[in-house]
Amino acid sequence: DAQKETLEFKAEVSQVLELVIRSLYSNKEIFLRELISNASDAAEKLRFEALTTASLFEDDPELRIQVSVDKTAGTVTVSDNGIGLNRQEVIDTIGSIASSGTRRFVAALSGDQAKDSALIGQFGVGFYSAFIVADRVTLLSRRAGLDQEQGVCWSSDGRGSYTLESIVKPTRGTDVILHLKDDEKEFADDWRLRSIISKFSDHIAVPVEMAKQEYKPATDENEDSAAENKTPEYERVNRGTAVWMRNKADITDDEYKDFYKHLSHDFEEPLAWAHNRVEGSNEYNALLYVPKRAPWDLWERELKHGVKLYVRRVFIMDEADKLLPHYLRFVKGVVDADDLPLNVSREILQHNRKIDTIRSANTKRILGLLEMLAKDEPEKYQTFWDELGRVLKEGPAEDFNNRERIAGLLRFSTTVTEGTAQTVSLDTYIERMKEGQTKIYYITADSPAAARHSPHLEVFRKKGVEVLLLSDRVDEWLVTNLLEYQGKSLQSITKGELDLGALADEEEKTKTEQAAQAHGDLIKRLQTALGERVKEVRPSTRLVDSPSCIVVGEHEMSANLARVLKSVGQ
Ligand code: ADP
Ligand code: MG
Repeated sequence: DAQKETLEFKAEVSQVLELVIRSLYSNKEIFLRELISNASDAAEKLRFEALTTASLFEDDPELRIQVSVDKTAGTVTVSDNGIGLNRQEVIDTIGSIASSGTRRFVAALSGDQAKDSALIGQFGVGFYSAFIVADRVTLLSRRAGLDQEQGVCWSSDGRGSYTLESIVKPTRGTDVILHLKDDEKEFADDWRLRSIISKFSDHIAVPVEMAKQEYKPATDENEDSAAENKTPEYERVNRGTAVWMRNKADITDDEYKDFYKHLSHDFEEPLAWAHNRVEGSNEYNALLYVPKRAPWDLWERELKHGVKLYVRRVFIMDEADKLLPHYLRFVKGVVDADDLPLNVSREILQHNRKIDTIRSANTKRILGLLEMLAKDEPEKYQTFWDELGRVLKEGPAEDFNNRERIAGLLRFSTTVTEGTAQTVSLDTYIERMKEGQTKIYYITADSPAAARHSPHLEVFRKKGVEVLLLSDRVDEWLVTNLLEYQGKSLQSITKGELDLGALADEEEKTKTEQAAQAHGDLIKRLQTALGERVKEVRPSTRLVDSPSCIVVGEHEMSANLARVLKSVGQ
């Protein structure tokens, strides 16, 4: 059916469109990055599918992206000869953005322009950024392998509906034509577009081409040249060298940062990165970044991992979750392996020794990078900790072998610090331990205030012994898996017989004994009155001002963990 149809956008689309346009207003030029990034994805998808179906190349195996300008018409066109879209795919992907993502995007908007702009990339609503500068966008596409009659033309002014029409499209792939708004005509400029491409898309491996600016004058010797000049010759604008393949010494910090932005769609610079080339029996390049901010979906169950897997520069998969453990899921980057098969699947990755080796090396690299930050740039490290520290606390449980190193990276709020900031490392804690103190004391509670004001702390305050105040949800999980650090055991102060060891003074011991004798009757009466509800009532020196407190047995679940489990319905 070649007929033209008019379809309504799915409800969220118009809403998102308006938000995209508004929040990206000061960052207009990113529309080109988004379109080129889609074209590059399409090229990589074709390359990947063609591994098994070579005919998809249709005698045109040189993948490329072309950006062209028509000053008179006021249009900018981004064309690719990638995988292309069929009619249904256009309806599903361009006519309605993956709608659950969209809803969450809308819900996650904060009203803060800088933050919201950063979200846009993460939610994959990139295509719509075309409407920042265009009042009409037309997309012509044909999927690789389909007949040329099976092309599709999609067009919209971005205001609630779009038209869809079948067209004949001889060339495979997609053209996106932007009809620039009157006040955005500045983008119909060759030089401007070239500089935007260099700025944002230099790393794209697929060539991004623009028409050559100077044409050779026609000569008698070359009769065809006049005709040739009508179709301009194209030249490559981006350098396209995969940063991760290049020699470290030749890469500037700015190049690393730009690549990070391209990779992560993050508008902010990364906090730190590690770039390694490994030679030998398992050769690979790894370029890994620690971001400055937690991604919005850090705590979503099906959070996407941020490491892309390439094999000999061919893109294989996004979100390769076997390349790093779960507690480092905030890391973004690329691993390019020389010795894996191109048709490697997620299942194969699961049981691959080479992947296991890469994963454990990657883990060590990130831990090393964080250790270095903590040592040399403590302020930066603190930024990291405030944003992402809670994820790292999952580490000791997941990664037994690196437990001690992870523990060294943890930061806590304690009875010595103020407010809720988590700034004290276990090493600092150990340095400040009192003479005769052998344990690292902590208390868990369901809020920072509850931890800080617990009566259990009284005796520690009196003796000037520092106590870690743990009130993040993950803390209970942490302390069940981290039993000691540097040979010092972690001890809950709300559990069991409080054994202060050498910290207890003789006076206190006598006092306890005296109290037991003097108040024997009272203790018995309390025991009878509370009956089954308690195991034991006993005198203690752990309190200074409060008359009583509840403790749990040394090997029992803490009261706070019981609360946490109850709240998640266990
Ligand atoms: P994302 O790239 O994060 O998926 P976009 O809004 O940029 O989000 O694009 C939405 C979808 O539209 C893409 O996932 C892809 O399926 C499709 N698409 C966009 N541009 C192209 C293109 N040039 N070729 C093929 N498919 C495309
Ligand atoms: Mg995109």
